[in-house]
Amino acid sequence: MGRVFFFTQKRLNYSIFYKKNQLLYGILNIVGGSLKTKKVKLKLKPNVVKYLKVIGVLLLIFLVCFIFYRKQISNITDLGYSEIAAKKILFDEDKEYILTVKENKTLNAALETDFYKAKYLKNYAKINFVDHKNLIKNINTLLDKGYSNSDVNIILSHGDDNDVTEFSKRERVRYLEEFYEFSYAKLKYYDRYLAYTDSTGEDEKTTVIHVNLNMDKTEYDDAVSVDKFGYDMLVNKFHALDNGFEVVDLISVPMDYSGGEEYKANRVAITALTQMFEAAKVDGLEMVVNSAYRSYDDQLELIEFYRKWYGDNYVNKYVARAGYSEHQTGLAFDIGSTSSKVFADSKEYQWMQENCYKYGFILRFTKKAEGITGYKSEPWHYRYVGKEIAEYIHTHKITFEEYYAMFLVK
Ligand SMILES: [Zn+2]
Repeated sequence: MGRVFFFTQKRLNYSIFYKKNQLLYGILNIVGGSLKTKKVKLKLKPNVVKYLKVIGVLLLIFLVCFIFYRKQISNITDLGYSEIAAKKILFDEDKEYILTVKENKTLNAALETDFYKAKYLKNYAKINFVDHKNLIKNINTLLDKGYSNSDVNIILSHGDDNDVTEFSKRERVRYLEEFYEFSYAKLKYYDRYLAYTDSTGEDEKTTVIHVNLNMDKTEYDDAVSVDKFGYDMLVNKFHALDNGFEVVDLISVPMDYSGGEEYKANRVAITALTQMFEAAKVDGLEMVVNSAYRSYDDQLELIEFYRKWYGDNYVNKYVARAGYSEHQTGLAFDIGSTSSKVFADSKEYQWMQENCYKYGFILRFTKKAEGITGYKSEPWHYRYVGKEIAEYIHTHKITFEEYYAMFLVK
């Protein structure tokens, strides 16, 4: 029974092997054939041939099915779904619906997790995707509590993953739309908004702004601690400078603009101030700096000075406590005019109303804004915030506090 098998021109003797395993020999023969063996001589028993044919057909069927399956998967991934999601969609009973939804990041995320709930399929498709770790888990919890899709969208867009997780622990709340109609309303402050509006009777917008500014807390005592310098930093009765706060880039105000006195301030702010004073000069106006940077100790001294001469009432109304004064940031200037003793009556003051924003300055404490700044009007006190913020504040006629509450509060 010795047989000779020619495999890629190399003569090999498989006879012993062949006796032991006819089937394997057959497969080798086919492989050898496909590799265009020059010469194949093999006689197989008829029943072995039959098996091989069946295997061949099965392999072919499997291959066709696999190609079909891959095609289906790639059709779904082409819609924007991930491979994992596509595999689930293919066997989902709502496959047709999912395919009509087309690309949907929330649905994709849902299908990728173990938290996917088939009953919320249509909800997922209508909820805006946000990049939160617990997105689907939180959506499920909120839907379980009876929130609508639009409620869930509101909730997701006003907090980070942690805020939403915390929020979803509570029972369903009221006034969601009222507070969160404002893009700057914070999910984590929900309780504070509710408490504030209940106790003060303020409308929703004022409530959101005031709470964002920490104004529902006790002034001075419960102030937010500010430890980092920034041109957009907020320092007021509800935002106190930390003991470790360090002022940045302090240089002297040019003597020409300080009436011969030695004042210091931030370098960038001084550059802007110089340009502003020069521009005013071109218009025939002359301004002078009466105060700029004041350290914590300078402020303490100042308070005592005013207390002696004007009393507690005056100090409480006009003078910031040490650690709560903008002058400690190096970004604030008290400005006077050489033409008039009362700055508010001067031409220079009028000029500042129209022009200071162009140089990145704002009038910090206006009469109209006493309620929100917490200070009586100070026509002489200007703060450097940078051109972009100053222009926005000027155009929209708002205070720095409001700007901060809308765009800068974390
Ligand atoms: Zn001042």
